[in-house]
Amino acid sequence: MKELIGLTREELTQEMLSIGQKAFRAKQLWQWLYFFGETDFDKMTNLAKPFRQLLKQNYTITRPKVITEQTSTDGTRKWLVEFSDGARVECVYIPESDRGAVCISTQVGCAQGCKFCHTGTQKCQRNLTVGEIVGQVMVARDSYNEWPTKTDENRMLSNIVVMGMGEPLCNFENLKKALAIFNDGDGMAISKRKITVSTAGRADKIPELADIGVKLAVSLHAPNDKIRDKIMPINHKFPLEKLINACKEYQKRSERRMFITMEYVMLKDVNDSLECAEELSQLVKGLEVKFNLIPFHPWPGAPFECSSTNQINRFSKLLENKYFAAPIRRSRGKDIMAACGLLKSATKK
Ligand code: SAH
Ligand code: SF4
Repeated sequence: MKELIGLTREELTQEMLSIGQKAFRAKQLWQWLYFFGETDFDKMTNLAKPFRQLLKQNYTITRPKVITEQTSTDGTRKWLVEFSDGARVECVYIPESDRGAVCISTQVGCAQGCKFCHTGTQKCQRNLTVGEIVGQVMVARDSYNEWPTKTDENRMLSNIVVMGMGEPLCNFENLKKALAIFNDGDGMAISKRKITVSTAGRADKIPELADIGVKLAVSLHAPNDKIRDKIMPINHKFPLEKLINACKEYQKRSERRMFITMEYVMLKDVNDSLECAEELSQLVKGLEVKFNLIPFHPWPGAPFECSSTNQINRFSKLLENKYFAAPIRRSRGKDIMAACGLLKSATKK
């Protein structure tokens, strides 16, 4: 049996041709899978019975298994999902004033080992497949009853942020295919401008995100290599000069010179001085960026503390005085451990 979720449009078409079907059958099937979100071949009523039979005998349509679903007092919803090999990841729906974003994972664990990140304390068990990446958004849509696909204007789950577990650009081939599935206008129809990919700094891959057309967020977290080296091991391979150049290339190549979100986790006495803010403003010269200041979320055994609210406000003010947007990210879903950097995977024993 072969799984259908995760095949790209081209792959599905090839697959149908290989079993002697016409290409338009692939289009109809695609719509059932990704526009209607249907999981039962018998309900695909515009497909001839013998064709449905053939599909049933040879293919499966699988959702990741939802192990738990928790909803926070602030409306944030988190799912722990399990894949066929027992690997588990978490994904989160974060409501904003204007609808909201589904935050999805790309790896089981993460190999980058950023010192402030709970996910980083676990090793990377494996990459997620295309179907497993796409499946997380499908689970969210199941949960919010958003099938068949609504238009951009009237859906709750309006955006996707690839900010869950794992470094997305270390699973780039699968991510690219997943993005193509999200974008397809006959299916889930989520436009590229509503998708943000966050990277810890794979400078070698960043420019390609401009060609794909999705938004970029960078986990910057430090104004110089000295500090960044200490908290983000990836900086040894891709130091700030390389990273900033990659960001420039991204903006040069992106159609409408899309601004970049620079994520900055506020760590007490590590990266939160006003000198750091000053240095930061110099570092991003020549780029169009907005900052996103993230209060550090502590976890058991974490070697850092969060900066004081006063200090975060001062840091933000200094950047704003230099005409940067520097909002402080509100923590969402803290009561259900859904906040940034707290996601973890539990593999079934
Ligand atoms: N791996 C990707 C995306 C996932 S993490 C990346 O690193 O960009 C989403 C954001 O949360 C990143 O900016 C990450 O650095 C930040 N983060 C990680 N641990 C955190 C913590 N304990 N508190 C606050 N933010 C954290
Ligand atoms: Fe991985 Fe991102 Fe956590 Fe770093 S911050 S360990 S890249 S998930």
